[in-house]
Amino acid sequence: MKLTYTPSPKPESVSSQDWDDWTWQLRHSLKSEKDFSTYFDLAESERKVFATSENAKEVFNIRTTPYYASLASKTIVNDPIRRILVPHEKELFDPKQAMLDPLGERKSKNNPVPRIIHRYSDRVLFLITDICSVYCRYCTRKHFTGSDQAFIKNSEYENAIEYIRKTTGLREVILSGGDPLTISDGQLERVLIDLRAIDHVEIIRIGTRMPVVAPMRVTDNLVKIIKKAKPVFLMTHFNHPRELTSEAAEAVERFVDNGIPVMNQMVLLNGVNNHPAIVQALSRRLLYLRAKPYYMFQCDPSIGTDYLRTTIEDSLQIQKELWGHLSGLAMPNLAVDIPDGGGKTYYTPDFETSSSLEKRSYIGWDGVEADYVNPEASHIVKPLDYELYLDEWESLKAAKK
Ligand code: SF4
Repeated sequence: MKLTYTPSPKPESVSSQDWDDWTWQLRHSLKSEKDFSTYFDLAESERKVFATSENAKEVFNIRTTPYYASLASKTIVNDPIRRILVPHEKELFDPKQAMLDPLGERKSKNNPVPRIIHRYSDRVLFLITDICSVYCRYCTRKHFTGSDQAFIKNSEYENAIEYIRKTTGLREVILSGGDPLTISDGQLERVLIDLRAIDHVEIIRIGTRMPVVAPMRVTDNLVKIIKKAKPVFLMTHFNHPRELTSEAAEAVERFVDNGIPVMNQMVLLNGVNNHPAIVQALSRRLLYLRAKPYYMFQCDPSIGTDYLRTTIEDSLQIQKELWGHLSGLAMPNLAVDIPDGGGKTYYTPDFETSSSLEKRSYIGWDGVEADYVNPEASHIVKPLDYELYLDEWESLKAAKK
């Protein structure tokens, strides 16, 4: 079957020139009940949140680009994309678990200076803006995102760069936020140049939802700036195959055609993508564009997300059904972030039926039964040249926070 990508349904009242301009998309973002009413027949259950948000700070920011709004159903409240971007009164209900900071990012041990999250020894998150062009209802960083701080203050920026410079055990910097691609080309270029001037920073990642919610942001100039700072990995965040319009597909291909690898991190969401048919459709379409389906995250218990979360059992079942039918290239890793900053844990289907020192027994995904017998222990030797890499390995292990 040929995989297809269809264009977004641009409203007739908007010119193509405006529609294809990311700054127009940001300037014309829908924020109020009145704005949303131009794209959606809002239900009472949705209007209630807009009314509450006028008086209550606890309602997470509401915003979308017109482009992303056009991908959702105008009339069906439970449409998967509409569930991601239009607030629903269920956000206001008493949840079973509701955390403002499920990843424990605000703990002082993880937040050494403002805008830097340092949870793993060899990498940091650098929150260069708190602005997103769409506020996803399931966002895990509601404690920071959308507090209108736009680009980082100069003093905070200098302190963050200094922290990265003096922490010599770091190997990776992940630009995040907010959405790093909402800042201007000039601002992004400055960040990338400053990071590339630090010898020990090997890999830069950019975590962004802009190719999903405003793919026109991926201009030739943006790609040129990112390409110059190589190696940079683009971490996209597609959750549903309908988000892969022809504009989004073109944006993804523009990155990979220019040598910028694209990895996708989806979140399993109730009523959005919690079915193996949806996950396979998304993964195959991404892979065809040469974007690697990387993670399938369990939704974090962030405030207001109870109705969007799946159970871990549902997620495991989806993974098990996909196993064997999707190639390893197309299969995303199922991961759960242990609440309160416990780090990631991974799941894979367990096909093992018994184990001993001598052998392990399995029944595979399609019912094949077989043993893996360990080799003779006396045959095991170390690689002859491992000492060549020992210093590097020791320094990585020593790179404690
Ligand atoms: S784009 Fe990312 S950071 Fe922004 S609201 Fe969505 S999930 Fe949160």
